[in-house]
Amino acid sequence: MPQIAENLAAIRERVRAAAVQSGRSPDAVKLLAVSKTFPPGAVAEAYAAGQGRFGENRVQELAAKAPALPKAIEWHQIGHLQANKVRGALEFASWIHAVDSLSLLRRIERLAAEMAVHPKLLLEVNVSGEESKFGLRPQDVSALLRELPQDAPAPVVGLMTMAPLDAPQELLHAVFGGLRRLRDQVQQEAGRALPELSMGMSGDFEVAIQEGSTIVRVGSAIFGHR
Ligand SMILES: *Cc1c(COP(=O)(O)O)cnc(C)c1O
Repeated sequence: MPQIAENLAAIRERVRAAAVQSGRSPDAVKLLAVSKTFPPGAVAEAYAAGQGRFGENRVQELAAKAPALPKAIEWHQIGHLQANKVRGALEFASWIHAVDSLSLLRRIERLAAEMAVHPKLLLEVNVSGEESKFGLRPQDVSALLRELPQDAPAPVVGLMTMAPLDAPQELLHAVFGGLRRLRDQVQQEAGRALPELSMGMSGDFEVAIQEGSTIVRVGSAIFGHR
């Protein structure tokens, strides 16, 4: 089997096992293949092996890659998004994972309405509190959601976070469990459903699944080292 297909099969099996061990349905966890820095050929190879969802970090790279690949691919913009890149992101991505301010959210809503697209949005939360990280403070998430009309063109469907690099297991549990508990609380406070939790990468997706992740963003474990 070619390497990418082999890696994908191994990751799918690990995702399935982690879900089952946590008493969850394997169908409740979506595998997002993060293809940043890898050429369209690598994406095509994964696609041929049955992978339909891909994540890119930078809009420029997304815009360069997506037109060269099958239309059926579901693209996710996962990296920090600058205001002047929103239009480019909306052209190709049907999910945006790192919405981290009310002004960015309003801009996405305005352009989504103008472009007649309906991307799904995730609010990025800085659960770990690291200074270097993007993301909303946990205590600001409810208020932001209450600013958003229920029928916005681009619905907020959940939350996203990143754990600190090389975090020990206990910290991973604290960060991912923290995002899940925040989601539960915010759902009540803001009175809207937030079914999606985007958390977990190559090094920590199993812990994230144990803590309720519904989207794991896996790059290097599928495509190799960057
Ligand atoms: C690169 C990236 C990933 C994937 O990281 P790996 O460690 O290669 O799995 C996930 N999420 C975001 C936001 C990324 O930028």
